Amino acid sequence: MYLTVHATAGLLIGQQLSNPLIGFFTGVLSHYILDFIPHGDEFIGKFSTKKKLLIGSADFIVALSVGWWLISQNYLQLNPVIIFTILGTFAPDFLWGSAMIIKMPWLEPINNLHHAVQRSRPDISPSAGILLQIILLWTSVIILLWK
Ligand SMILES: [Zn+2]
Repeated sequence: MYLTVHATAGLLIGQQLSNPLIGFFTGVLSHYILDFIPHGDEFIGKFSTKKKLLIGSADFIVALSVGWWLISQNYLQLNPVIIFTILGTFAPDFLWGSAMIIKMPWLEPINNLHHAVQRSRPDISPSAGILLQIILLWTSVIILLWK
């Protein structure tokens, strides 16, 4: 699932918590739960490492832009709990991306768990997956704007 969807989920979750450490690990857990939902971006796995990192970087910039917009419009007050929750939502994909660049054997069990979650659900078409991710993103933003 794209980082933008994970990050907005992290914004929602982080608003409900009061401890940064709990926020971080709740963010990590939310990442695995969202990745368990069929989301149609498995085709990215067939791309070259360079292209995967380019897509991940663009996704990261979109995620930061959505967060920046919510903060600049005063829909959201950034605090350490929200920051750590978002870092938790990013962690599994950042660790996976880091292992593509630099081999770190200690990351293998973490990345194997990530792959196991990704492989444990059925695939859906990229267009259905993108639509689902847009719906999830939009739902999260609407809930954030509602408050
Ligand atoms: Zn993931």
